[in-house]
Amino acid sequence: MLKSVIITKGDKMNAYTETRDILKKYNITANKRLGQNFLIDDEVINGIIDASNVNKSDLVIEIGPGLGTLTKRLLENSGKVICIELDTRMIEILNDRFKFYDNFEVINEDVLKVDLNKLINENKSEELKTAKIVANLPYYITTPIVMKLLEDKLDIESITVMVQKEVADRLVDVPGGKNSGAITYGVNYYTRPEKVIEVPNTAFIPAPEVNSSVIKLNVLEKTSVEVENEELLFKIIKMAFMQKRKTLLNGLTNGNLASKEEIEKMLTSLGFDLRIRGEKLSLEDFAKIAEYVQKLTK
Ligand code: SAM
Repeated sequence: MLKSVIITKGDKMNAYTETRDILKKYNITANKRLGQNFLIDDEVINGIIDASNVNKSDLVIEIGPGLGTLTKRLLENSGKVICIELDTRMIEILNDRFKFYDNFEVINEDVLKVDLNKLINENKSEELKTAKIVANLPYYITTPIVMKLLEDKLDIESITVMVQKEVADRLVDVPGGKNSGAITYGVNYYTRPEKVIEVPNTAFIPAPEVNSSVIKLNVLEKTSVEVENEELLFKIIKMAFMQKRKTLLNGLTNGNLASKEEIEKMLTSLGFDLRIRGEKLSLEDFAKIAEYVQKLTK
């Protein structure tokens, strides 16, 4: 259910004063290059915790904990929190702040380089039955992070993340919808996405230029369509989106999928208009094309 958050000054006080005090205590400022926009709104933090639905039998992986504002609430509500943070300055703060929590762990690493499958499989147990990802993501690498979380086929139940609004709109759109892009198909292949909260830029310090949204990707037990060759499916989707507004026929021809004649023959026999544009296709349509091409190469 989409909840719009209206920020009032009063709502800001706890996380806001906490953030301001920590920045002052450690004499640091946000590093823009690392996408550091710290959450200072308690209502938004509550919204993320509620949406993620974390509980004591959950292992939570938090990407980019920063000063630990969200981490604190995750530690109180889940079985164990493993944070992955690139900025060494934050590691000192987090270790200091959470030294009395025995369910806290932090890894000082670029999340894109972490073997998340290994991390999750080593930490899941009888007590920590399910794994969930929760984060206020650094916006400069949102797309590669989301792609990694999906493509690594992690044994997780859900991904609840804050991302910039435009990206959220693309991620939660239906394939073929007006905001959809290649990544929309990936999201809908692996998960059931939903938008949870709209967040104004005033919920952060420093305030980013754009507004944000919290989205939740509920990981499916079985992918939403089945194809023999998944890699081929995504290669075709990427080709179709390489040149937006061009026809699917041109996209696939330029991508060297097959000769123009063969692609024309395929599209006609699958019932597509030769002038159709890639962004009009559903995931099922792309699956049909992938299955057809797969058979051709056999
Ligand atoms: N969770 C904090 C909050 O909500 O206030 C901070 C969120 S801030 C938007 C993003 C965080 O991601 C920063 O702490 C930043 O240092 C961290 N970060 C940036 N690039 C990263 C990377 N490649 N791997 C892990 N963490 C990264």
